[in-house]
Amino acid sequence: VLPLLSPSPVVDSPASAAHLLWLVRTGRARSRSDLIELSGLSRSSVSTRVEQLLAAGLLHEAGPGRSTGGRPPRLLSFNRDAGRVVGIDLGVTSVDVAVTDLAGSVLAATTDDLDIADGPDRVLARTDELTAQLLRSLGCGKGDVRAIGIGVPGPVEHATGRLVHPPVMPGWHDARVPDHFADYGCAVLVDNDVNVIAVGEQSRSPQLTHFLVVKMGTGIGCGIVLDGHLYRGSAGSAGDIGHIHVDDERTVLCACGNENCLEAVAGGAALAREAAQLGLPVATPRDLIGLTVEGDRQAVALVREAGRRIGEVLAALVNFANPSCIVVTGGLARAGNPLLAGIREAVYRRSLPLAARSLEIRISDRVDDAGRIGAARMAIDGCLDEAHVDALLAASN
Ligand SMILES: [Zn+2]
Repeated sequence: VLPLLSPSPVVDSPASAAHLLWLVRTGRARSRSDLIELSGLSRSSVSTRVEQLLAAGLLHEAGPGRSTGGRPPRLLSFNRDAGRVVGIDLGVTSVDVAVTDLAGSVLAATTDDLDIADGPDRVLARTDELTAQLLRSLGCGKGDVRAIGIGVPGPVEHATGRLVHPPVMPGWHDARVPDHFADYGCAVLVDNDVNVIAVGEQSRSPQLTHFLVVKMGTGIGCGIVLDGHLYRGSAGSAGDIGHIHVDDERTVLCACGNENCLEAVAGGAALAREAAQLGLPVATPRDLIGLTVEGDRQAVALVREAGRRIGEVLAALVNFANPSCIVVTGGLARAGNPLLAGIREAVYRRSLPLAARSLEIRISDRVDDAGRIGAARMAIDGCLDEAHVDALLAASN
């Protein structure tokens, strides 16, 4: 059993078995000849590694392919059933859990209400219970799980998977989430919820190599993918745009202690409060979204203005990082067009023509389950990286 892991930025060596496996499992290669061509390795190196991957049960021979003259090539396929993966999206008021195969297809999923302020012991015990139930419903157990991916609504120290002063998770500072899943005996990867969603979006749109995911819920955060890689910064807090200072005629105190953070001015909680002050029947951000969707003029105007405020910050990010796409997600994204219109207005007005020319801004089509699917994708990549695949091969050969 390999030690628990924090999210790993390690890029597999192109000569590794993990890289060959990646070429097959992502559909890039279907035969030994494809692998030779794509990896640049010799026929005998590819053949040795493929035999090892077959013996370890990670690859299958899938029968003969179409002949291009000579002997038809024997096709290879990834054994997506060589294990199970768990994706967990911990929110402030709910938890989503999915069990997937090694290709990321959801086999079973569930959602439950919880209060993140109950602290790590209670919340993670409940999460473990839900996971065990899902596994049982599929006829498997903890031993079938190859990796667990968990997204949390707070900053995670990249090297250890430890939470560091999460503003909306009282009692979680210093919590080591992986320790709570030690009895699974597999890799446990913990990351900020927005980073996890970015991984999910990337796996669904592999052609996207430079993009931002903006999650707007109670708080506001941003996942950054540059050159095909999730960018976490030196400690793991990159993309925490909710606490960028914005100009406002009012002075609004933020939960972090600073004044006029983006989140304090345009986050879901701030908008709900503002709507209630205007006399709208709104107690939660969800109520405000309901009114917006129904077309209430004041609610629409509030959401559109929030979109503009967020767009002003995004315009600076667009000038800085030159993404080709911004994907908007989170609870507020359900407000739809008024939010998108506000964001687009500010971004296109304020960003440089070259940066804005080919920029697409859209609402995610997976607002509801992007978190747990992304967490599962993160877990799959984590348990099929070079170190883990080498360990699996060593154990089976
Ligand atoms: Zn703040």
